[in-house]
Amino acid sequence: MRKKIIAGNWKMHKTVREAEELVGSILKGLPETHYEVVVCPPFTALYRISQLLEGSRLKLGAQNMHYEIQGAFTGEISAPMLKELGVEYIILGHSERRHIFGESDEMISKKLRRAVETGLKPVLCVGEKLEERERGLTEKVIERQLVSALEGLSREDLDDLVVAYEPVWAIGTGKNATPEQAQEVHAFIRSKLSELLGEEFADSRTILYGGSVKPHNIYELTKEEDVDGALVGGASLSAESFLGIIEKAHK
Ligand code: PEP
Repeated sequence: MRKKIIAGNWKMHKTVREAEELVGSILKGLPETHYEVVVCPPFTALYRISQLLEGSRLKLGAQNMHYEIQGAFTGEISAPMLKELGVEYIILGHSERRHIFGESDEMISKKLRRAVETGLKPVLCVGEKLEERERGLTEKVIERQLVSALEGLSREDLDDLVVAYEPVWAIGTGKNATPEQAQEVHAFIRSKLSELLGEEFADSRTILYGGSVKPHNIYELTKEEDVDGALVGGASLSAESFLGIIEKAHK
């Protein structure tokens, strides 16, 4: 059976104290679930949150990293720095990184290689912009993002790869993809993965949906065959809504 995941991307929210509070409430209310639950706080809170998560069922992720191990890259954070803190998952290629900070497919591909080499589990985000969807380019864009990121990597390298389909028009807009739209693209991603790395690899891949996931829409989304969980932004910032999502996700 494929691993199911619900991950919270806190983006640039929460001071260390606020992060402690949120994680404390999530840990207190965490229900029995077969979803792996992951929180991705900002860099500044990772050290403290890693300590709080020790021995718990909650896993730690980070939101970004540089592709070099060290060097003159002012303001950047490397994969070994994150690994040392107990970070397990790394979000790569988030649309805010691609479109606000100008990350190219090539940079994301280098980051993916480094993550794999360092033993971080990559959550590779792919997704089309609204005008790309309207022009019928959704599959083309996603294929380009996937092919470029995975180029030269083997099935073994990518054993821990998680893919997140995050249509840019659904992120932070309150307008989620319909379950049918999500399923259509997830099935496409799985078929592309099958072409690139084989059917067995594709069948075992966790593919998350992200974009305005809330307690009221998670069930219908995760009911779809190829939707294996969610990457949650805004609704992961309160314990009530994040726990609501975990409780209501299709079992
Ligand atoms: C995200 O940033 O990954 C995301 C899905 O955000 P939101 O849930 O707020 O749309």
